[in-house]
Amino acid sequence: MYSDIMMPDRCSFCKGKLVKGKTEFVVRVENEVLAIKDVDAYICQECGEAYYTPEISEKIDDIMMKFHNSTLLVHPLAAGELSLNEVIA
Ligand SMILES: [Zn+2]
Repeated sequence: MYSDIMMPDRCSFCKGKLVKGKTEFVVRVENEVLAIKDVDAYICQECGEAYYTPEISEKIDDIMMKFHNSTLLVHPLAAGELSLNEVIA
């Protein structure tokens, strides 16, 4: 029902309320795990599903592409954590 709207205000899984906040976006590429911290998102209060704005999705795509190509300047360390702002700065 909300599929045509870019940013729903209800979770499409459980119909829970979405609240703007920060989340951690974790991607797994082969044996490496990259966690991007402090990502702006709308988070479902019921199931925790995170929804990203097109702008954030674009940044995440960009980071993932760099990660795939190993051109990411902030190469994931042991912790595999970096901040979104750190990467795009
Ligand atoms: Zn939900």
